[in-house]
Amino acid sequence: MSRTYNFAAGPAALPESVLRTAQSEMLEWGKAHASVMEISHRGKDFIALAHESEADLRKLLQIPQNYKVLFLQGGATQHFAQIPMNFAVGKSADYIVTGAWGEKACKEAKPVTNVQIAASSESTNFTTIPERSTWKLDPNAAYVHYTPNETIHGVEFQYIPDVGDVPLVADMSSNIMSRPIDVSKFGVIYAGAQKNIGASGLVVMIVREDLLARCPKDIPKIFNYAEQAANDSMLNTPNTFGWYLAGLVFKWLEAEGGLAQIEKRNIAKADLLYGYIDSSGFYKNPVEKSARSRMNVPFTLPNEVLDAPFLKESEAAGLMALKGHRAVGGMRASIYNAIPIEGVQALVNFMKDFAKPNG
Ligand code: PMP
Repeated sequence: MSRTYNFAAGPAALPESVLRTAQSEMLEWGKAHASVMEISHRGKDFIALAHESEADLRKLLQIPQNYKVLFLQGGATQHFAQIPMNFAVGKSADYIVTGAWGEKACKEAKPVTNVQIAASSESTNFTTIPERSTWKLDPNAAYVHYTPNETIHGVEFQYIPDVGDVPLVADMSSNIMSRPIDVSKFGVIYAGAQKNIGASGLVVMIVREDLLARCPKDIPKIFNYAEQAANDSMLNTPNTFGWYLAGLVFKWLEAEGGLAQIEKRNIAKADLLYGYIDSSGFYKNPVEKSARSRMNVPFTLPNEVLDAPFLKESEAAGLMALKGHRAVGGMRASIYNAIPIEGVQALVNFMKDFAKPNG
């Protein structure tokens, strides 16, 4: 075995026990006498799997009854466009932009509807979250869209913003399942699966039922969330393997003690890494402390010429995918749910060793 600690931003590390279960069930799943990839999504076995994974997700996130859960495709990016198509008909939408993904969501909505940037932290290079009191919200907006965790810039909201009666829409791709959340505060939550849920190619959406009445009848059915809800996310063939894998991850989360327990671990992991970075006098994280992400930790070295040796040596030490996103440079450690504290400790130990001769 040569599996390493994988700090990739997504697709990202999965719990090893989940991969082992998938491996052991690869040829024959349950009573199906076939792989889960080889059976009909409309057969009773798969329908049972679909129901069970939804029930497990509902339990983990304590999703209220008046919310639908959808298992969709297209990546979060497709839903940047599809969300305004469904929910912003005849109205403009407000966007809070605290990083590259919020910016992209806003850009993708523009061909579909009028958008207004109600707040942005671009002027600080996305290292802060604008004070809630400075947001210029339109009380008649169709919704307020924000990105609770910005994967590239490493900026995370530590609170759910109050936006009054306007539905709050959250791209939770990179921090869903990392902590308990009060779903009732949201109109729509959506997330690509390839960080804390499973494999890419699956998007989980949690949508308040009353909002589905807004979905226009004159868009293609396949883009219509109300149609997807009415058809249990099976308007066409869903990503069956991705759905199965998500179900395994939900079982793993339950076995680990649920989201309150996972949150404790994530806090300990983030504290360990930021604590070292801040005390090192060598590495730097540019994000304002109150806005730092528990999931994605970007950091720079004192001199860019050290980046290449850092990456080479870290890989040799069994620490993978630490290269930062090209938009911000430097390094980034993504420490999602599947990264154990031992992995973060191994990273910190390596960072200390690297800093010594280079400091
Ligand atoms: N939103 C966020 C917060 C992301 O981190 C990503 C991917 N890294 C996306 C959206 C885009 O997801 P996808 O590639 O699944 O479209």
